[in-house]
Amino acid sequence: MEEELNKICKVEYDVDLTSHNTYRIHSVGKYMVFPTSFADVKNILDVVNKYSFKYLILGNGSNVILPEYYDGVIIKLNNLSKYEIFDDYVYAEAGVMINKLAQELVNLGYSALEWATGIPGTIGGSVYNNAGAYKSSISDVLISALVYDGKEIKEYSNSELQFEYRDSVFKSNKKLIILSCKLKITKSDKKELKDLVIDRTNRRIQTQDLSHPSCGSVFRNPTDVPAGKLIDDLGLKGYHINDAMISNIHANFIINSGNASSEDIIELINYIKLKVKEKYNIDLVLEQEIIK
Ligand SMILES: Cc1cc2nc3c(=O)[nH]c(=O)nc-3n(C[C@H](O)[C@H](O)[C@H](O)COP(=O)(O)OP(=O)(O)OC[C@H]3O[C@@H](n4cnc5c(N)ncnc54)[C@H](O)[C@@H]3O)c2cc1C
Repeated sequence: MEEELNKICKVEYDVDLTSHNTYRIHSVGKYMVFPTSFADVKNILDVVNKYSFKYLILGNGSNVILPEYYDGVIIKLNNLSKYEIFDDYVYAEAGVMINKLAQELVNLGYSALEWATGIPGTIGGSVYNNAGAYKSSISDVLISALVYDGKEIKEYSNSELQFEYRDSVFKSNKKLIILSCKLKITKSDKKELKDLVIDRTNRRIQTQDLSHPSCGSVFRNPTDVPAGKLIDDLGLKGYHINDAMISNIHANFIINSGNASSEDIIELINYIKLKVKEKYNIDLVLEQEIIK
């Protein structure tokens, strides 16, 4: 398999993934590849699937809890980073950082992603998770996505992607790989957009723990009450298992205060779930993804 992969693009071995996940967990990937075209992605997946080998598509690693050792192929899409802005839509490849594209659109006076300037993920990861903030989400503006389904590269319309709150068809069908997408943009008042972004950035700085490594919100918000409030009301801010700690600033953030491992984070997640269930009889649902 390695030989076939190496013909498509250079394979790196036993790669330290610390800088490839925003928890900054020390994790090692057995194989890692950085495709530079859609054809590369397709060919890599064809080889990996042929050998029934384990793989992980990695965007910016800002919503994943990586294991200590990943015994498979990490396919990192950061080289698929082209985008082009047209009159009423933007075309963006999966590896484009959503916060950068959001800022660029705001600077040009286009409304679409102004809620996303604080999200350190890729377009691919954001479509997968239907990322959102301030009651908006990427599915509000997504026109279509170009997807490799293991057989062909095909365009899917928004309505085919089963978007829900932090959910999409990609979560239930891991064979579907997002290559690019088209997002609807609308001309808007540049100053108003910029002011909105400044206001929201300030809010994030005040309410989120941005000075420690994390993957943002750990749990989805239950319908009636924010997950952070439930955890805070239990007095759990600052509670830690080794270096995995519930942020003192935002109770729905787990931070890596030094050398946290995925086991520490997962143990802390289970502890929070147990305490919330005991006190409120609510089953918190994980927003982040535990990779095995
Ligand atoms: C400080 C901070 C603030 C955050 N704020 C928010 C917020 O306001 N709202 C929000 O929704 N999220 C937020 N997040 C979480 C995270 O940034 C988003 O979910 C982001 O969209 C994840 O993108 P990623 O590229 O990092 O995905 P990754 O973590 O790399 O991957 C996440 C999942 O997506 C899959 N995936 C990635 N790319 C593809 C692809 N091309 N095709 C198929 N599957 C793919 C991966 O396999 C994995 O299962 C925040 C995170 C941090 C650290």
